[in-house]
Order: sequence, then structure tokens, then C-alpha cells
Amino acid sequence: MNRNEIITSLKNNPSPAVLIVGAGINGVGAFRDLALNGVDVLLVDRDDFCSGASAASSHMAHGGIRYLENGEFRLVREAVGERNRMIQNAPHLVRPLPTTVPMFKIFSGLLNAPLKFLNWLDRPSERGAVVIKAGLTLYDAYTGKTRTVPRHQFRNRTDSLDRWPRLNPLVRFTATYYDGAILSPERYTAELVLDAEAEGGRALNYVSLAGIDGQNVILRDKLTLQTFNLQPKLIVNAAGPWIDAANGTLGLRTRYIGGTKGSHLVLDHPELRAAIRGNEFFFENKDGRIVLIFPFYDKVIIGTSDIPVEDPDETRCTPEEERYFIEMVARVFPTIQIGPEHIVFRFSGVRPLAYSHAKTTGQITRDHEIQEDKLGGIPVYSLVGGKWTSYRAFSEQVADKVMDFLGIKRNKDTRQLPIGGGRGYPRSDEERQRLLQGWQAWTNLPLTRLEELFDRYGTLAEKVALHIAKGPDQPLETVAGYSRREIGYLAGHEKIVHLDDLLLRRSNLAMLGLITRPALDELAQILAESLAWDAEEQSTEIARAIEILADKHGVRL
Ligand SMILES: Cc1cc2nc3c(=O)[nH]c(=O)nc-3n(C[C@H](O)[C@H](O)[C@H](O)COP(=O)(O)OP(=O)(O)OC[C@H]3O[C@@H](n4cnc5c(N)ncnc54)[C@H](O)[C@@H]3O)c2cc1C
Repeated sequence: MNRNEIITSLKNNPSPAVLIVGAGINGVGAFRDLALNGVDVLLVDRDDFCSGASAASSHMAHGGIRYLENGEFRLVREAVGERNRMIQNAPHLVRPLPTTVPMFKIFSGLLNAPLKFLNWLDRPSERGAVVIKAGLTLYDAYTGKTRTVPRHQFRNRTDSLDRWPRLNPLVRFTATYYDGAILSPERYTAELVLDAEAEGGRALNYVSLAGIDGQNVILRDKLTLQTFNLQPKLIVNAAGPWIDAANGTLGLRTRYIGGTKGSHLVLDHPELRAAIRGNEFFFENKDGRIVLIFPFYDKVIIGTSDIPVEDPDETRCTPEEERYFIEMVARVFPTIQIGPEHIVFRFSGVRPLAYSHAKTTGQITRDHEIQEDKLGGIPVYSLVGGKWTSYRAFSEQVADKVMDFLGIKRNKDTRQLPIGGGRGYPRSDEERQRLLQGWQAWTNLPLTRLEELFDRYGTLAEKVALHIAKGPDQPLETVAGYSRREIGYLAGHEKIVHLDDLLLRRSNLAMLGLITRPALDELAQILAESLAWDAEEQSTEIARAIEILADKHGVRL
């Protein structure tokens, strides 16, 4: 069903069993699980799918080794298992990522992550290395027998500098272990939404929870500004950092969230990209802040901060954060110069952490919980906390509770269920070659082009390729590696409403710094053809995209 058909169906029958408010990863995860089990479920988001905290993450599918320090063994164990599942179920979007922790002898408040690990801040570095070793051994044990990722490895200074010659020579040891890199959290979420719709769920972006009138929940379509009423049996509040605000809209006074802001920069810096050799560098500063240097295609992401905030709508990456990140990176790779000219994109968001009186933000639990309220006879479940990585387990817990209330028995689970372009994913180079040759036979597209599409969309590339093959196609004039019909496919099949949905969430174009003013014009013109925008709508979309890129991402066109 398209957007208008869904809204009409809701006006005709305004009683879906479950209304989920918020299409970040937690709302979408619960949506998929419920749809899969035949529950009549509607998902709405006031913006696009994956446009809140879920788009601001550090892109790590990780167990969170540092949470061991807080004694959160259950969470780490669960998250390591979920990291493995993400790599297995969505191999086109989540890849094993070697992650290296540098350890230094003289800490003096700097680069002290290893010692912070068990609060042995003032012990010699050798002890730190022992502590890290113990933590990583436990981490490896949590990975289990499947060995989705290799075991950790310790290196002394000589070996470390051999491998990373630009590393600060004061390094005493490095420890390399494996986590996962989420190459596009936005596409991952969108593909989950499409999977759930194939199972009968209904999802609407740009529809907000607007109020309550007796038993009627009021939703507003942000495109037409029209409101419509629903009478769900149950509401799942998955509004992330906005959970308390959304509860307030329903007339419930809650204080579940005490969010902290985190920002990142994307750098176009070939020298730094080469220096890290495909590894993420990861350590914790004295104040508990995580510093990460993360390989992202041919770019590098650096971050992140952890600052308590009141208003999640106002988060932006500030100049102070920028300076801090650049300074921290320079201390690990002291001979590499980074300046503002290398920044191609900024992003910032709020972790929807549970409200807490913890002394430092690093001590606030990253675990998840369901808070339950009642709205007359209707239960409202608020999804508090959690990590991207543990979304599936959290969603399962939510879906079980919802189905319990509705008296529905679970008949399918998502543990081993592939996601989007992870379905039928080839597990060896030979299989991949065979698959692509098969596609080539019925699409006549060059093998190099099919490779490109496969890298971007996994096995969904087959559908994209078939669509491309059905008509005359041309490469984009403004962005290498993309074509007009490829963009047309995304517009027609992936619930794109605004131009920025394409730039920021169905592709990595903006994040990789590939958007120029001519590119905006060309992409808007293709979307206009697919989505039947007139000239005025097209220029409104361009103006909107320019404003969002400048305001939220510091990209000035
Ligand atoms: C800086 C940062 C770094 C992080 N790094 C990692 C990491 O590397 N690995 C990891 O596992 N986790 C990480 N996390 C945590 C993870 O990203 C979050 O826990 C997770 O994305 C939360 O998802 P959510 O669905 O609960 O919230 P969100 O993604 O924020 O979704 C909530 C949605 O609700 C919508 N909404 C709000 N109000 C309304 C309304 N009235 N009507 C309709 N819709 C509404 C919003 O538009 C939004 O899309 C990080 C988080 C941050 C902020």
C-alpha cells in the first residue's frame, strides 16, 4: 500500500491492534517482529524512518566492552550475541570491524581507557594491559563457538608501530579485537520497514502523534496537516529521546529519559584513513568520553561526546566538540594534521538513556527496559534506553509483552531472519560470482555495475538491476557510481517523501560529502519525475534540503 492508501485504510478502519510511535531502530524492530507474527500494527514517525538517535550512532555493532567496567555483564553478553546476528543477518550492511585500543605508559589524564576499565586509574600500564586482556578474554568468550569474528590480539610497541607507523611512539601496547561496523544504520532501518510491510504491517513517515481526545489518539499527517483519529488497543511509545514529550502529548506525565548528546565528524582525510589501516581506534578519555576514529568507506568518522541535554531538538555538533575531537585524534596520530577543511559532514543526536542520578554520564546504564502506563484502558509501553546493537533482543521482549496482552501466540522469531538485501546473501566469492553472472544474463548490465549495486544493496540489487534494465538509463552527471534509474528505483520503492530522505537515509551520499549544488538539482529532478512533484514542489524540496544540510550537518552548498 502507498501512503495515501494506508491513510485511507486507517480512516475506514481506525482500530489497529497496536500503534507504535517512533520509527527509530527500536520502534522499527518491534514493528517487524509484530508484523511477522500477524499482529495488526501501525508504525508512525513525525519525520523519516531513522532520523532521531538511530541516525546519530557511532555506527558500531558492539557488545560495549567498556560496560563491563560498570558490571553490566548481561547487557554485554546480549549485545555481543546481537552483534553476531547483525553480521549474519545483514552482511551487506554490517561487517566485522577490527577495533584497536592503544595503551600508553604515561597517562597523566590522557589515553587512560585501559586503566579506567576496572577503575585502576593510577596503576602502571602493564597492569592496565593485564586488565584489558582479562576483559577481552571475557568478550571473546561471549562471542561463543560460532566465531563470527576472530579472537583478540595483543601487540607490543614494536609490533604496534610496525603495523601503524604513524601511531604515537609512546604507545606501550595495542589490543585489537573485533566488533561490527554498521555501514548504513538508515538503510538497515528502511529495509526492516519494507520487510515488515511485506508481512502486512503498515508504516507511515511524516505522521506525528498529535494528541488525545477521550479514547481517540490523534495523528497528524505532516504533508497535508490533516489529522485523523485512531482507537488502538495498545500503544508502544518508541519516541527515543522524545518519549516523555510523546507521553505528555497523551496526557501522561513521565520522566523516563535523561538523554546525553553525542556528536561526530566525517573527515575526508586520505592520510588518516591510510594510517588506521581499516581499523577503528577506540579509547576512553579521563572524563569517561569515548574517542573513536572509525573507517567509513574512504572517509573517517571521529567522535564522540556524552553531554547531558534537556532539549533533543536542539542538538548540533559545536565548535568546541570539533576542537576536542581533532585534538584527541592528534594525540594518537601526532604527525597527522587535521583541520576544518577536512570536515565534510557533522552529525549529532541524543542517547535515550534512562533518567539517572549517576555521577558521570559514562556510568548511566545502556541497558533497556519497558515502562508501562495506562491511558484509560489502553496500555502504553515506553521503550527506554537500549543500544542500536541490542535492538532485536529489545524488540523481541516488547513484541512478547504486546502479544501477551493481545492473547496472541508467537509463531515466528527474528533471531536468524535475514534483513532486506541480506536475504540469500552469497557466503563465498564463488557464490557471489555465480549470483552476479546470473543477474547479468537477464539484465545485460555490465558485471562492474552489478558489483557496485551489490555492494550498496546486497541481494536487493537484483530488483534494482531489473528496474534499471527495463528502460534507457544514464549515469548521474554529478555523482560517480550512481544512475538515474537507480535513484528512480529508490524513489518508487523505498517510501521516500522528501529529497533529504534520499540524501541522508536511503543513501550515504550526504554523509560521504558527495552533495554539491548541481547534484541537488539533478537528484531533485529525478525524484520530481518519480514522485510527480511540480516545479514549485521541486524548488521547495531543494530549499528544504539546503537548510537541513546547513543547520544539522554543517554542510554549506
Ligand atoms: C551519539 C550516539 C552514539 C551512539 N552510538 C552507538 C553505537 O555505536 N552502537 C550502538 O549500539 N548504539 C549506539 N547509540 C545508541 C543508539 O543509537 C540508540 O540507543 C538507539 O538508536 C535508540 O533508538 P530509538 O528507536 O529508541 O530512538 P530514535 O532513533 O530516536 O527514534 C525515535 C523516533 O521517534 C520519533 N518521534 C518523536 N516524537 C514523535 C511524535 N510525537 N510522533 C511521532 N514520532 C515521534 C522521532 O522522530 C524518532 O525518529 C548511540 C547513540 C547516540 C546518540
